[in-house]
Amino acid sequence: MVDLPLPMTGFRHFVASWLYTGNDATVLVDPGAASTIPALLSALEQRGAKTIDLILLTHVHIDHSGGVGHLLSSYPEARVICHSRGAPHLIEPAEVWNVSLRNLGEIAEMYGRPDPVPADRIRCEETVRIGGLTIESIETPGHAPHQIAFRLDGALFTGEAAGIFFPLAGAFYLRVGCPPGGFDYPAYRQSLERMRSVDASLLCFGYYGYTHDARNTLDLALRQLDLWMSVARKHAGEPEGAFEEKTREELLATDPGIARFWDLPDQNEGALAPDSQHRRIQTLSRSEIALCTTLSSHRSRREAPHQGGSVLKNTTSSFGPSSPPAAQSHPPRGTGRPV
Ligand SMILES: [Zn+2]
Repeated sequence: MVDLPLPMTGFRHFVASWLYTGNDATVLVDPGAASTIPALLSALEQRGAKTIDLILLTHVHIDHSGGVGHLLSSYPEARVICHSRGAPHLIEPAEVWNVSLRNLGEIAEMYGRPDPVPADRIRCEETVRIGGLTIESIETPGHAPHQIAFRLDGALFTGEAAGIFFPLAGAFYLRVGCPPGGFDYPAYRQSLERMRSVDASLLCFGYYGYTHDARNTLDLALRQLDLWMSVARKHAGEPEGAFEEKTREELLATDPGIARFWDLPDQNEGALAPDSQHRRIQTLSRSEIALCTTLSSHRSRREAPHQGGSVLKNTTSSFGPSSPPAAQSHPPRGTGRPV
């Protein structure tokens, strides 16, 4: 795991990239934001990664993939693997950037503007074999419609499809990864079920860390998702402020995934961080706002189950019309217009 420190209070130990070396292959998962590429390059140099064969993108939100265009100039041999719905937004990142700016404001600026990725560097394949390594792509929409998880060598890289994780002594914190506008409850649920059926001994999160207890963690994520939707629906008739307060109180009292919420460390590494506690509270409130948005959107449209079947393609030439990715999720500011 490679920590990607961001230059804002409350954003330490927040987002991670992953480097895999073995089986005659070097693979990077989610290089992170444009602004953290110098830190990533330094970490890769320290780990002796002179070349990278593949860069796997779980999704194209700028906090996880915004730096890939910058990274490619240092690793010209690397190929990028992503969902076919995300690929056009790597090639032409203007809309992703504009949506991120609109929803995140100064936080989008902190992540940095993505550089375009040349189309001939991108592949959208369900299964990739390199050296002695086989990489499987598993469609996991819900957090984003273009999200995929990757299984390689017993590890499952979930991006945000299994939620937001943080390791704690003898425990962990886990919450639903539900961006305003882009969150799809039925699809998210189906993706968790899909990941539960995958034989994995290690679960790796974009936010932040890993667990060897993959099955139980995904079981908890599934129960948590249903609980959140149930609690949010229960309070959905409340005015917005009361909705947040009641939902937060009930979730903190009943959800084992966030039971250690108040034990989350200050993310400023011991320095005085007057807003860190506030930031933690905000993190939960944002999710509740997201749920409220989601509930509204679900009322107004048919709750069709996620359409099964793969949309991954074999070559970049098969990119068809696609929906732009959902608005950036972490941490959202305002509701913005989902695209
Ligand atoms: Zn995301």
